[in-house]
Amino acid sequence: MWDALPDAARSIVKELIIHGPQSRTALAKTLHLSTGSLTRLTRPLVDAGLLVEGDVVHDPVNGRPTRPLDVAASEHRFLGIKLTADRIHTVITDLRAGVVAARDEPITDHSPDAVCHQARRLLDGLTDGTGGTGRAGGAGGAGGTGGTGGTQIVAAGVTIGGDARSSAPVGRERLIDAPFLGWRQVALEPLMEQALGRPCVVKNDVAALAHQHHWFGAGRGLRDFALVTIGAGIGYALIVHDHLVAAAEADLGMFAHLALSPGGPMCTEGHRGCASAYLSSDSIEISAGLGLRRAVTYEEVMRGAAAGDQVCLGVVREAARALGRLIAHITTISMVKTVILAGEGVELARVGKDDLDAALTANRRGVPGSAEVVIEADDFREWARGGAVVAIQSFVTGSD
Ligand SMILES: [Zn+2]
Repeated sequence: MWDALPDAARSIVKELIIHGPQSRTALAKTLHLSTGSLTRLTRPLVDAGLLVEGDVVHDPVNGRPTRPLDVAASEHRFLGIKLTADRIHTVITDLRAGVVAARDEPITDHSPDAVCHQARRLLDGLTDGTGGTGRAGGAGGAGGTGGTGGTQIVAAGVTIGGDARSSAPVGRERLIDAPFLGWRQVALEPLMEQALGRPCVVKNDVAALAHQHHWFGAGRGLRDFALVTIGAGIGYALIVHDHLVAAAEADLGMFAHLALSPGGPMCTEGHRGCASAYLSSDSIEISAGLGLRRAVTYEEVMRGAAAGDQVCLGVVREAARALGRLIAHITTISMVKTVILAGEGVELARVGKDDLDAALTANRRGVPGSAEVVIEADDFREWARGGAVVAIQSFVTGSD
């Protein structure tokens, strides 16, 4: 059914997924289609169970009674997977990336085959042993899927750190390097597809998170925004004119080592005062550990700072000021007006918000509020959800 969608139908599905139920007249207006074309395009999608009609309401455009169209979000499920050096995180979402189930566990065997089979076992566990195959054959048709067990997993998306794009000639299998798993030139997509029994896309984790925020998060409705992730690593993605700016492998590590202050702490590559030296979880733990004269976790440092501990507060304030400068550089050079902060270490921005704001303003010619900073939840499942989002996007737009 998805493969056969004409491009105009794909824009209708995309519009409804991102912006919610709409009347046919409103939809036709947004997409510059005649209502006749819209009706012709949507009829087979309704018949196939991809779109549903809501209860009768009065059309906001012409006042006539109408039944708004929506996607059958809960009837279509997607699997998102995030791989780290030691854990595999999985979520199952609906067509709007709402999480319906989640599970994670340590990676037991790091070989690509074993990781793919572990993903399959997790999928089986999340779908009560059915593997999310739904009904046999999987042909179109709305069916009577009132229960919880019969919903089909349409596709899967895997996100990993580093270059998960392509290092193969056009038309060949895409090969993945994941040094943290000891993988070199692994054809992960076909391996995963075979293990999971459904189509699979593989993406860089930060790029996937940017797509997620663009369709389903704080970036929805924005044509331009930047995403900065804080955690074990420092990540960056830029959406301009509704498109992700493509990054080459060599670009990916650059951002984390952007120099922010010549006299700051030192990173693992020997730079003083780079973004990573101030902001990575390791750097925060080590800086606070120096003052406290003992090893501390990232969470302890954040809690200590929130409770007024002088050492923790000192480290967090210094890092938050560096983050403010970093955001000032991003907004000034790219001219985006919104920066979304995400990642498992984002609590830093919340605890150090005043210092972040002050440094941002000071580095924007003293103009307050010239850039909006949105701080997201520090839920690690968001990375796996990013995987589900790239699977959703690849199916809706017919590309990856
Ligand atoms: Zn550095």
